[in-house]
Amino acid sequence: MKILLNDLKRQQQALGDELKTAVGAVCDRGWYSMGEEVRGFEAEFAAYCGVGNCVGLSSGTDALELALRSVGVGPCDAVVTVANAGGYASTAIRVIGATPHYVDVDRAGMNMSPSALDAAIGQVAAVIVTHLYGRLAAMDDLIAIARQHGVPVIEDAAHAHGARRRGCRAGAIGDLACFSFYPTKNLGASGDAGAVVTRDDDLAARCRQLAQYGWSERYNAELAGGRNSRMDEIQAAVLRVKLPHLDRWNERRRRVAALYEAGLRGVPRLGLDPRGAEDDSVHLFVVECEERSAILAGLQQAGVGAGAHYPVPDHRQPAFRDCHRAGPLPVTEALCNRVLSLPCYPEITEDEVATVVRILRALIECD
Ligand SMILES: *Cc1c(COP(=O)(O)O)cnc(C)c1O
Repeated sequence: MKILLNDLKRQQQALGDELKTAVGAVCDRGWYSMGEEVRGFEAEFAAYCGVGNCVGLSSGTDALELALRSVGVGPCDAVVTVANAGGYASTAIRVIGATPHYVDVDRAGMNMSPSALDAAIGQVAAVIVTHLYGRLAAMDDLIAIARQHGVPVIEDAAHAHGARRRGCRAGAIGDLACFSFYPTKNLGASGDAGAVVTRDDDLAARCRQLAQYGWSERYNAELAGGRNSRMDEIQAAVLRVKLPHLDRWNERRRRVAALYEAGLRGVPRLGLDPRGAEDDSVHLFVVECEERSAILAGLQQAGVGAGAHYPVPDHRQPAFRDCHRAGPLPVTEALCNRVLSLPCYPEITEDEVATVVRILRALIECD
């Protein structure tokens, strides 16, 4: 028996013919870039998020980089972000030559702490807020603080496709939002893809121009910092097949979270945060534990895929260690050593979830 952390073959099989037909149609057309599929997906995803603009790009990290450039972030600037979200924002900030400024996260929700942002906001050019694991951050408070200082807020919504609060989806809350459609995300392509979405037509136009070499028109490089980051037609065609299923898939993820919560409640030395509300797309189902490496090894031995998202905070990564600023990060530090991700995807069966629960309980209770 093997239960994978994520089994992408099941989704492929469920959609099989539809995906093959969509990809085949692109090949038959012989038009691979900047065509009707990308335009169609951009319109459909913008409408889904409830904003006026979506710019299809090559990846989520590119989306973060181009969003930062579009609001004017340059090499002398600092950008506030968190250090527990996998380092993608840090990568984008460093590509520009800017400096990440890490602030701590709240214990509940594990997202950026408004009071920590308040302490740092006077010194920065932009804020990147990640909706970690799919749970929307405290956007009302974070945006109020940023507004007071005229600092733009960029959502990293790579975990949060479809998460919604008071009728407003991830992507429609900040000044701009960045999505990844890496295959394992809640909405995943058959390869790399990403997007920026925004209500602001000027920011969208700038992102679009930056993604095409900064050209104003063909071979006229107008904007500095431009490069190639186009979404391709095949990925857009795949995403158009999958987008209509996203809400149903997210409901399945919420159901998986509810099963885990019911099965794991009361287990000693196991931390469970409430999950699966409407403002949570349950990209990852994460528990907190002591002795994580022993539990990870035990799960693996029993055939259960598990992981740590993310084990090393950004300020301790060799790539960022010597070029960042940071406030105090006690919660970030504690969480990085304790978080453990369990298999969670729409196609996992209820029996499989029950098996993971049984194995994890046995590992912890026998400890
Ligand atoms: C996956 C991910 C990204 C980056 O997306 P890519 O498409 O892999 O570049 C950014 N932020 C978060 C939180 C992610 O999980």
